[in-house]
Amino acid sequence: MYDYLIVGSGLFGSIFAYEANKRGKACLVIDKRDHIGGNIYTEEIEGINVHKYGAHIFHTSNKEVWNYIQQFAEFNRYTNCPIANYKGEIYNMPFNMNTFNKLWGVVTPQEAKAKIDEQIKESGIVNPKNLEEQAISLVGKDIYEKLVKGYTQKQWGRPCHELPSFIIKRLPVRFTYDNNYFNDIYQGIPIGGYTKIIEKMLDGIDIKLNYDFFDHREELEKIADKIVFTGMIDQFYNYKFGTLEYRSLKFETEILDCENYQGNAVVNYNEYEIPYTRIIEHKHFEYGTQSKTVITKEYPSNWEKGDEPYYPMNDKKNNELYAKYKELADQENKVIFGGRLGMYKYFDMHNVIEEALKVVKEEL
Ligand code: FAD
Ligand code: UDP
Repeated sequence: MYDYLIVGSGLFGSIFAYEANKRGKACLVIDKRDHIGGNIYTEEIEGINVHKYGAHIFHTSNKEVWNYIQQFAEFNRYTNCPIANYKGEIYNMPFNMNTFNKLWGVVTPQEAKAKIDEQIKESGIVNPKNLEEQAISLVGKDIYEKLVKGYTQKQWGRPCHELPSFIIKRLPVRFTYDNNYFNDIYQGIPIGGYTKIIEKMLDGIDIKLNYDFFDHREELEKIADKIVFTGMIDQFYNYKFGTLEYRSLKFETEILDCENYQGNAVVNYNEYEIPYTRIIEHKHFEYGTQSKTVITKEYPSNWEKGDEPYYPMNDKKNNELYAKYKELADQENKVIFGGRLGMYKYFDMHNVIEEALKVVKEEL
């Protein structure tokens, strides 16, 4: 018998397990994958820490979260500065003075603002109601056409006017020559990879891999007093109100016999016609000097039952459906739902840590 069965060894499940174990609670962590760590899992290939499920850059403005994660790893000074490739033209991301200068030749913030204001005025948008209108009213038509439209359509499999505007608000718009992708105070990559963080969290805790909760549900529901569930909430309730939508991805990783393939950790490919959204060159996250390099192409794809649910589709329809499941979840006294899938939210790592620590405070 365990005090807690933790379904999912991602960041949420592992933090909960670590904190519970520290307080003398007996925990069993299960995961359906053959490794721990969920989507932050990194694996060493050719001496390079490869982010197996896409680029993961840690960033937060929450000092408590930053201090918390530092117990498990030392972070380097990596600052994410992706570049965007649109039909061979290179632009700096996020949208900033370097982007505006390359696009329009403007030099001062005043010139850039005037150009964007002119384009917003031409569009006639006053209250943006979807991602397309939101993007145009933030950065104007030219940037929308080149850097947002194609990328977003392939990422989400829908035209921008059918997507919620919050997605584009993740990206800063800056009138300074600053290519930092995030506005947060703290940022970096854990030296030695993310898997080591999870290994430390789960040290001394029972773990079963290749073990799907739904294949052993009856037995597992009896094995512990409580369950912390970080899988898909709709699956937990056997999709009784309907299926939540997700977006999936396929990753194609190659080892290349060259030292430096693209000169940057993240290069976005913004035209619709190229089927991948970005190429990651992993060594640049840790300033690697290995003689070979490892790259990963990220292809967005439709999600169907059985595929990996990487992104929740947090539009109105799905959020309303989630609210029904949440109502059931709130009535449970033996099950706690957490993480990106359990809470059906487009969480970054720092959000997941905040949520996990909240649950730890309430529960433990
Ligand atoms: P997960 O990591 O998904 O863990 C859930 C675990 O539960 C998985 O291991 C899964 O196998 C397991 N599981 C699910 N169902 C079952 C079941 N039925 N039985 C047993 N096990 C089960 N965040 C950032 O802060 N910065 C970034 O740069 C960043 N980049 C990202 C890039 C991509 C491509 C993606 C997809 C996400 C990115 N994120 C980033 C978000 C980050 O990955 C998540 O916030 C975080 O990993 C979520 O942790 P979690 O524990 O909630 O979920
Ligand atoms: N986005 C874009 N062009 C880019 C990068 C991002 O239009 O070059 C949009 C796209 O809609 C994407 C959203 O901004 O889904 C958020 O980007 P982010 O990099 O935060 O996405 P994630 O890393 O979570 O996939």
